[in-house]
Amino acid sequence: MTQKIIILLGPPGSGKGTQAVRISKNLGIPHISTGDLFRQHLKNNTDLGKKVRSYMDSGKLVPDTLVLDMLFDRVSKSDCRSGYLLDGFPRTLAQAEALEKHLNKSSTITAINLNVNDDTLVKRISGRLTCKACGHVHNTFFSPPSKTNKCDKCQGDLFHRDDDEASIVEERLRVYHQQTAPLIKFYKDKSVLTDINGEDPADTVFNNISKVLKKRG
Ligand code: AMP
Repeated sequence: MTQKIIILLGPPGSGKGTQAVRISKNLGIPHISTGDLFRQHLKNNTDLGKKVRSYMDSGKLVPDTLVLDMLFDRVSKSDCRSGYLLDGFPRTLAQAEALEKHLNKSSTITAINLNVNDDTLVKRISGRLTCKACGHVHNTFFSPPSKTNKCDKCQGDLFHRDDDEASIVEERLRVYHQQTAPLIKFYKDKSVLTDINGEDPADTVFNNISKVLKKRG
């Protein structure tokens, strides 16, 4: 059986999380976000959580070894056997190479790169409000909730991620351009990457991604 791995690439705020939820639901494969996994460790105050807090709070990347152990442990679970979707991983060439080594011959990679310009990203990220209960994302600039700090979908409480503050957003974008953007070439050279315009409305982006995934089979 082929194991299908979908990699969502794109800067912070490009819509990877929103698209990942929809794709994983649509295809019935797990959505694995290394950022979410780390945030869970922070919340539970685990040893790993204590180690990664300072990196996350300052918008820096967590060291590769810590990321890789956590990620490979997660993807070895039985729900990942037929495939999974990666959101926020890989973030460095070393991580991409480690993933290649980890995969077996029956694994295929499809990489989707969401393009969004930096000005839009800053607004998207610094305005982002996520629902604690259902994960739905509002934005103070583009899609404000009808009731302050309450989710329109489920009335859950909305929160603003600590690392979504403007100064940290700038650092995250700098880190993205320096360390993660080179992955676009890495996957282009392997002919597995498709560029998608992430400035389009979310439904259009989702339809365009779905077309690519259908084509790749
Ligand atoms: P995200 O939710 O994907 O924006 O990730 C939030 C933060 O978690 C990042 O700014 C990093 O500090 C850390 N992080 C998440 N994924 C990775 C990764 N693959 N490599 C290194 N750090 C990561």
